[in-house]
Order: sequence, then structure tokens, then C-alpha cells
Amino acid sequence: MRRPKLLLTTVFGPYGIKNKYAEGLGMQMELFNNQITREQGVHSPRANYWTFPLYFLAENLDSLPATVLDFPTWKGYIRELQREYTHVGISFTQQNVLKAKRMAEYIRQHYPQTKIILGGYGTMLPDLAEIVPCDEICPGEGVRWLREYFGENPEAPIKHPIMHGVSQKYLYGFRDVIDDSGVLFPGLGCTNGCFFCSTSNKFNNSYIPFLPTGESVFAVCREAQKKLGVEGFAILDENFLKMPARARDLLAKMEQHRQPYSFAIFSSAETIAEVGVDFLVRLGVCLVWVGVESKKALFSKVEEIDVGSLLAELQAKGITVISSSILFAEHHDRVTLEEEINWAIGLGTDLHQFMQLIPFPGTPLFRRYVAEGKMIPDFPYTKLHGQDELAFYHPHFTSREAGKITRGAFRRKYETDGPGVLNMALTAIRGYQRAKEEMKTREQAGLSWNPQTLRYQRSTDHQTDQFMNLRIEKMRQRALEFRPLILSAKIFAPNTSSRKKAAQAAALYNEVFGKPAPREGVKSFGLVCFAAIEWFRLRMRGLFGRGELVRQPLSRRVEYNREFSTHSQVEAAEIPSGLQHRCKLST
Ligand code: SF4
Repeated sequence: MRRPKLLLTTVFGPYGIKNKYAEGLGMQMELFNNQITREQGVHSPRANYWTFPLYFLAENLDSLPATVLDFPTWKGYIRELQREYTHVGISFTQQNVLKAKRMAEYIRQHYPQTKIILGGYGTMLPDLAEIVPCDEICPGEGVRWLREYFGENPEAPIKHPIMHGVSQKYLYGFRDVIDDSGVLFPGLGCTNGCFFCSTSNKFNNSYIPFLPTGESVFAVCREAQKKLGVEGFAILDENFLKMPARARDLLAKMEQHRQPYSFAIFSSAETIAEVGVDFLVRLGVCLVWVGVESKKALFSKVEEIDVGSLLAELQAKGITVISSSILFAEHHDRVTLEEEINWAIGLGTDLHQFMQLIPFPGTPLFRRYVAEGKMIPDFPYTKLHGQDELAFYHPHFTSREAGKITRGAFRRKYETDGPGVLNMALTAIRGYQRAKEEMKTREQAGLSWNPQTLRYQRSTDHQTDQFMNLRIEKMRQRALEFRPLILSAKIFAPNTSSRKKAAQAAALYNEVFGKPAPREGVKSFGLVCFAAIEWFRLRMRGLFGRGELVRQPLSRRVEYNREFSTHSQVEAAEIPSGLQHRCKLST
């Protein structure tokens, strides 16, 4: 019998290009441009992220060689299969099910002995086995499942990969090759169980911790700092603060070691309210994504919380806020939907995601809509991305007009608040200013941080808050990182109010930091040049009806070869996909 050899792969590219396997709109492998800074043109930050869960799975298998193939082209995929794998794991979302189908059918045709394992959110499709030929479906958490499947100990300790999260990023058309952030994957799932949420329902409304303590999170941060030189991290966890003891312990560890790491997190409103905004600032949260969902409190996570005030306080204290809300909920009619959009824009957050209500298979919403006959028959899974047509009959809106309304909501947010990156710059500089002022006030009043109450309180043995000084220095550095983009934000502003906002931002930066140094001036000017090229490129695409400029993620192949060195990564080669800016499907 052949020794098992596993390939773990994403679906093939190109992505965000409409073809017979997938949609274009709403399906770019970019979070920001796809669904947050949509309609912001040249101001939209462009970034692709590696598929971290695949590396996580490979890292945690001991008994067999494994390879991760991230964002392959079709040619790259079939070339990889020639390496004779006994098992191929395809990870995909519901919307990419036809790509998974093509990949699996190719295996069946050319490598009939190879076992096909399906994983990811696509496994929530009720008729998956009828669509995609497969031998196994991994329905939940993959590490335990794969370990059991390959006869390993499912309870063995978890090993956290140390890696950068971003595959490539562009700002105003400039490709920034420095990746100064890492990824943390503390756990999976969420216990809140919102009725529409795939994440929560895929894991039975439970939370599966991989890094259960603050100490374990801190250890991964330290290792990443040592190996990659990073001090900022994106936390891939739906609700990181839902385990407040872990977050408190993490802060204690950072204070003990005088190491102020920074974090971008997802959090529900009630967990932020529980620990308080000052705690988040001290912890080093520089960006938080909060699902506010609706003006009408539909979920316990926002009940009895003044969401507007909470988000305003986060921003006032220097934390970038991405809020998100749902369009075409059941209670929306023409009037209330308009009110909903106005309310969401009125929150004044740095960035906002408008997402249509999607009855994802596997959620209570889907089950109810099926029972009530509300689902549109044969609605393609490829269109379940929430930016275009509705998958269900809405009493007040047609499926087709939903896309236009959604796009209009993004446009209004942009025209009202201006470029999201400019908002982020203002939040960063105002937060830095405020942190310094509050520090001074606390010093004068003899207030110290109380880790029990998570508040600043009068203390008998008041001492200078050294850790907060380090944190404020981090906030200063972060604010300065935004400075070069203000000129581009101003020159390419969508309207007068945005232009004024950029001018105010420039004035505030001058007030706080003094006039820009020559080096900063050169950076700003250089960015304007890149922005002008990008702006022209977008304009031409618009004029010639060529649609969105889609940036394809890089492809990457990483081998985990246990024959020679257990758990070690022996090959990590980036394979340029050769598809940058091009829109043709490879054969
Ligand atoms: S709080 Fe967020 S992650 Fe948790 S169930 Fe609700 S939508 Fe899902």
C-alpha cells in the first residue's frame, strides 16, 4: 500500500472574474475592495491574504507529507497533481462549489485511486455529495478530523504556524512589499448563534479554542516577532474578546514583558461593552470589525447597547472601526431600508460593509426559508455572495434590483464620509492626541490601571504608566504611517467635503507632528504619481466598459515533508500566477 501523501488546496483562479465556474462581482479574493471599500475607486486599499487554515492543517499533521497549494491557476493545479498524491483536500466556500467540482472531476478522471476530501464552508451545502465527487466530507473543525482520519492522536498539542497574512497589498496603485504583520488563529466558531451566521452554525454555536490562554497567544506573538520581525497581528477569530479572561491575560503578559503588540480583531458589540474601550486601547487593538447588523436590535449582541456611542468612543480613542450591516432583512420595506442605510452611514465609522441577507445552507435562516417556501428555486450557489441578487423572495424588493440598491449604499457611504483610508488616518491621529492628553490627566489625578476592574482608578501607590507610554509610541508610529496618503486622498477626493476633510487631516498632522520632513514629502508625491496611474487605469476600464480592475492573488506552494524533518517547512516557493490584471481563464 502506498504511503499517504496529502495535497491541501484552495480552488483555482482567476478569482473575481465571471466564468462558468464562478461569479465576478462579490467574489474577488480581496476583503476590502470586494465588500468594504467597494465603489471607492483609487482610494480602495487592495490586499490579498493567504489561506491560513490550510497551513494550519498541514502544520498539525505528523504522520504524512503534506503540501499546501494556495491560489493555484488551473494549470498549476493539474501540474501539482502529477506529484501523485494519495489524498487531495479541497477547501472551498459555497460560492466556489463549481470550481471544487471541476477539480474533483479531474482527479476522478486522471487519478481514480486518489481520495478526495472536501472541507471549508462549502461542506454546509446539503446536496454537496451530488455535485462534487468525493470520498470524504470534513464537516467541522479540520485538525481533529484529519488527525483521526490518518490515525493520529486527535488530542495532540496544536502547533500554530508562524507566517505573514498578506500575500500582496497595494495602496493607491503602489505595491507595498513590506509585510509587517503576522496572523493569529486563536479559535474557531462563535457561541452567539446569530440566525444567519455560517460560522456559528458550522461549529454548532460552539467555540473551539486553539490558543486558549493569554500566555499561549503571547507565545505565538513572541515567536512571530523573533522569526518574522512583526509586532502587529490580524487575529482570525470571529469574536476574540468573547473569552475576556484570555484577553486580560494577554495584556498582563505584554505588560510584564513590556511588549506592546498591536491587533486587528473581530468583536461583537456586547463583548466590547463588557471589557470597555480603555481596555481595547491598552491591549493594542488598532482595528475592530463590529457587526452592528441593523438599527432594529435583532440580536442579543446589540441589545441594550448604544451602538453609535460605543463605535464613536472606539474611534475617538484611535481604533479604526469597520462596521457591518445587513440589507434586505425581513422587516425592511422601501422606507425602512432607506432608514437603515442612512442609519449605518450616520454611524460615521471609518469603513462600513453592506451585506445582503443571505440564507446560507446550514443556518436556521435557510431552514426556515425553505420551510416557508421563500427560497428562489434553483438559485445558483455561485451567487450566494451578498452583493448582487437575493436568493429569496423578499416581499418588497425584487432579487434583481437588490444589487443596484446595495451598490448605491456603498456609493452614498463614500460620498458622505470620503475615502475610508482618510478616515483611518484621522482616527489614528486623533486617537494618538487623545491618548497623550488622557495620560497627562491621569498622571495629574493619580489614576492607575486596575486589571481587576479594567478601569483607570485612583491608587495609593500611583506610578508612571510605563506600558501606556510604550503603547502611545506605537500609536504615534501608526498615525505617521497614514500621513503620506493624505495628499492623494485630497487630490482624488470624490467631492468638496472629502477634499476639505483631507485638508483638515493635513492641518492636524502638521499641528501634532510639525511640517512633513522632506522624506515624507517625497513619499506623498510618489504616492500621488502611482495614484494618478491607477486612477487613469480605472477610468479607462470604466470608459471601455471593462468593469472592475481585479487583482489576482499570488500563488504559493509549501511542502511539509516529514520524511526528513518532522514539522518543518522545506519548500516555500512563490509562483507568480502570471495573471495579474488579466481576466482570462487559464485552461
Ligand atoms: S456574533 Fe458574529 S460571528 Fe458570532 S454568531 Fe453573530 S454574526 Fe456570527
